[in-house]
Amino acid sequence: MASILILTMTRDIVLGDELPDWVGAKEFYQKYDPKEVIGRGVSSVVRRCVHKQTGQELAVKIIEITAEKMTAQQLEEVKSSTLKEIQILKVVSEHPSIITLIDSYESATFIFLVFDLMRRGELFDYLTEKVTLSEKETRNIMRALLEAVQYLHSLNIVHRDLKPENILLDDQGHIKLSDFGFSVQLQPGEKLRELCGTPGYLAPEILKCSMDETHPGYGQEVDLWACGVILFTLLAGSPPFWHRKQMLMLRMIMEGRYQFSSPEWDDRSDTIKDLISRLLLVEPSSRLTAKQALAHPFFRQYQREEVRLFSPRRSFRVLILTVLACIRVYSRYRRARPVTRQLLCKDPYSLKGVRKLIDGCAFRIYGHWVKKGEQQNRAALFQNSPKIFLLSLEEVVT
Ligand code: ADP
Ligand code: MG
Repeated sequence: MASILILTMTRDIVLGDELPDWVGAKEFYQKYDPKEVIGRGVSSVVRRCVHKQTGQELAVKIIEITAEKMTAQQLEEVKSSTLKEIQILKVVSEHPSIITLIDSYESATFIFLVFDLMRRGELFDYLTEKVTLSEKETRNIMRALLEAVQYLHSLNIVHRDLKPENILLDDQGHIKLSDFGFSVQLQPGEKLRELCGTPGYLAPEILKCSMDETHPGYGQEVDLWACGVILFTLLAGSPPFWHRKQMLMLRMIMEGRYQFSSPEWDDRSDTIKDLISRLLLVEPSSRLTAKQALAHPFFRQYQREEVRLFSPRRSFRVLILTVLACIRVYSRYRRARPVTRQLLCKDPYSLKGVRKLIDGCAFRIYGHWVKKGEQQNRAALFQNSPKIFLLSLEEVVT
């Protein structure tokens, strides 16, 4: 079969750590003191910052739009997509489970978005630390996420980049959805065709649409697919669709091929598996909507203590988890750094030192791929040009 090429958009522009100079950011500096880097995205650097007048701690997402680092076309794209992001954030910020945009500035060289500071960082890192979450905790997170998605969809907004890296935790551990860089507000009847998002979370129709010109396009349902992937990942500690060869992973997605076969699923209820299987449906029109998902028995269920029989596999897992927890506590005690520093200063794309070792161990035992897999995915996907790349899908369709 002839090779099929996909043309897609990324916002993959590597940014340095230097702070914007005074001229480029005067308005921002007059009001805020920028502090350490607390996060990095594909097109931005996020720093803690302090509002000079009130001393309030906030987060600022700094997007560089200098001609030196980008072509004129890239510049235009980043600018217009960031302005679209601001526009959408202004509409949705009121929702309790969506990040609040407090301020924004645009200079000739930078765009600054000032947000609430989410001190406990990404759900991704929280999951990496905990390996898997309980059904109870997953229920609270997913309820908040689905309520945010339901709200977005009621305004005809599709997020298109739902993943644990874009779900942030506040002081109390409540989640807020962030990163509206790929979001779009649809006109009535409008369908989308662009291939954008993060590989492991892409819905089958996004991939199919890119391969078939006659495909009718995709809509809001893609967010529910991503919710299914997130739900599965929180409970299993590994994603439903994963293969070291990315093409094979994309094929698994298109066929909706995943399994509840890892040991983590031994203890999970049929109710939660049922919800996942209704979200990970290849046919978008059969997939649950956010409203339907929230009405699923999983969200009405009380936690009942189940009578459990002795399981050697489970006992072994508990033993391993206990050993890992002890190593973690010991290594933290040795490092003796303030908790806020640990949470705020780390670069989310590099797990360092002892933590790397421990998490590496957890990765091996539980196949908990997420951060590593992401990086592999990114490396594979973004290898051609920084902004636009061609991806051969021959392997996927043959
Ligand atoms: P991008 O669009 O480039 O992916 P994001 O908006 O996702 O940028 O931000 C990148 C990272 O910065 C996030 O994944 C998170 O780790 C961190 N971050 C973003 N906003 C905040 C915030 N309000 N509070 C704390 N950390 C944040
Ligand atoms: Mg992001």
